Amino acid sequence: MVNNWTGELIYEGKAKRVYRVNDEFLVMEFKDEVTAFDGARKEHAPSKGRLAAAQTVFLMGLLGRYGIRNHLVDWDGDRKILVRGLRMIPIEVIVRNYAYGSFLKRMPLMKPMTKFSKPIVEFHLKSDELHDPLITMDDIIEAGLANWGQINEIINTALRVNEVLGNYMVSRGLTLVDFKLEFGSDGSNNLVLADELSGDTMRVLINGRHLDKELFRRGASAMDLVKSYEEMNKLLGIPLNT
Ligand code: 5GP
Repeated sequence: MVNNWTGELIYEGKAKRVYRVNDEFLVMEFKDEVTAFDGARKEHAPSKGRLAAAQTVFLMGLLGRYGIRNHLVDWDGDRKILVRGLRMIPIEVIVRNYAYGSFLKRMPLMKPMTKFSKPIVEFHLKSDELHDPLITMDDIIEAGLANWGQINEIINTALRVNEVLGNYMVSRGLTLVDFKLEFGSDGSNNLVLADELSGDTMRVLINGRHLDKELFRRGASAMDLVKSYEEMNKLLGIPLNT
């Protein structure tokens, strides 16, 4: 599809760089870096980029097989993926199956890891400066970030993603606690799942033990996180050297 996995650097975030290849395609490069607390803690994490790219490729592939449209096109087998360029919706969509993380901060009445009666879908404004505040559907409409049709489709897709990923995790002995999604729309105004699906964007437990970035947030070293991502890939059935 492309023979040079690069282009003009158009965005550099804490964990990824994005290059524009042409009008249609972008390359996302996963960095060998791990950060927490809005970048206040940052460490070099050798191999993390490849492991997170492999997780994203595997999980987007799984969702694709269930008919969930996503931006993935190709993988260089290392830290870069080729994706379709989209008009991104500046919202983080979080799906939660258990009470955890920032949910508990705003709802301390619930015990950690209480299973919800049904999954919760919530919206946050994508803004590092404001620490991704929780927003309502009416906020989204009034600010013109998406219309009601798109909001409904986002909710339905996010719940479907939760079903597919959650069932797969259970089949591998894992528990999917929560995760974050981002969406964009393509040239035909189709809603498309974008960004990444990795230990950086989801909480995954094995027998109550975190395999995800929560480990680093709680003080584990970058090397321990990399070891955990290797374990996560193995448990998910992702070949280590693809
Ligand atoms: P919480 O809101 O509890 O901190 O996070 C809920 C879920 O969404 C967790 O799985 C977390 O990893 C993911 N998440 C929330 N905000 C972000 C974000 O800004 N970046 C990334 N990569 N993941 C996020």
